[in-house]
Amino acid sequence: MIPTAFDYARPTSVDEALRLLAQADDAKVLAGGQSLLPVLRMRLNAPDLVVDLGRIDSLRGIRDIGGGGAVAGGGGAIEIGAMTPYHEILASDEIRQELTLLHHAVAEVGDPQIRHRGTLGGSLAHADPAGDCGAVALALEAEMVIAGPSGERVVPAADFFQDLFTTAVGDDELLVAIRFPVHPGWGAGYQKFVRTAQQWPVVAVGACVHLADGKTISEARIGLTNMGPTPLRARAVEEALAGVTPTPEAVGAACAAAADGTSPPSDLNGDADYRRHLATVLARRAVLAAAGHPQ
Ligand SMILES: Cc1cc2nc3c(=O)[nH]c(=O)nc-3n(C[C@H](O)[C@H](O)[C@H](O)COP(=O)(O)OP(=O)(O)OC[C@H]3O[C@@H](n4cnc5c(N)ncnc54)[C@H](O)[C@@H]3O)c2cc1C
Repeated sequence: MIPTAFDYARPTSVDEALRLLAQADDAKVLAGGQSLLPVLRMRLNAPDLVVDLGRIDSLRGIRDIGGGGAVAGGGGAIEIGAMTPYHEILASDEIRQELTLLHHAVAEVGDPQIRHRGTLGGSLAHADPAGDCGAVALALEAEMVIAGPSGERVVPAADFFQDLFTTAVGDDELLVAIRFPVHPGWGAGYQKFVRTAQQWPVVAVGACVHLADGKTISEARIGLTNMGPTPLRARAVEEALAGVTPTPEAVGAACAAAADGTSPPSDLNGDADYRRHLATVLARRAVLAAAGHPQ
């Protein structure tokens, strides 16, 4: 279908984009267009104005911000501009080494064409519960930098995803960057279950694990995808893993709680009970991989 008519603007700065958003009655921001364009073509949304962020260079790139920024804990951190496409993230040695879980998840997004156009910021702002990156941002305890008419604010990932396709970004605001704390020495595992290749996950699990003395799990962070209207942390599993030696039996027992507190959907890809089962299996595999024992 052809989208309804809209005005189109291509600002070259964040300030100019924010001015355009403030003046418009009903504007939509365009990043990589991989989700927005299908929505417009299906006429699920009919904005008066589309504000294309593609010419705002400051929104693109991967920066080591050291202990700066507002990242919780004040340790080292990497900031990724919202308009950075997946393929640049995948090609980055820094991301592969320091944010391995993000690297694993981005490698699983769609196909090379989607990864060429689609952006990390677009994915997180879209907040599709089946998107690969939201649960990873939660597990890595990322922070979202949001710019608006009264300046910038920083929102933890835990407060960013508010409901189905709904985030903390207001109509007159932009997601400008995502800050990821770096956790040296943590292992990472990502498990995504799909019915056919290059699909959104039926369920996915991202795990980061720290081993004390190389043998016992001292801390774990687990993110769940498509187990509710927003990405979720599997807190019960995280607590159960503390102090566990990562054998398949012990990790499997801890991961039996992976679906606790979730509300997965039922659809053509699987019903809610099937997803609950998948969450336990994928969590076990992701944690074992993160602990250096892939199965
Ligand atoms: C065939 C196909 C397969 C796919 N497979 C997967 C998959 O396996 N896993 C997966 O996770 N995703 C998948 N996707 C979705 C893909 O990841 C999209 O790129 C992503 O969801 C949106 O990113 P985008 O940059 O294209 O954003 P756009 O489509 O341009 O924007 C998406 C939404 O976010 C808003 N937005 C964008 N940027 C900002 C910003 N900086 N500030 C505020 N609002 C903003 C837009 O207004 C729009 O509402 C697939 C898409 C297609 C078409």
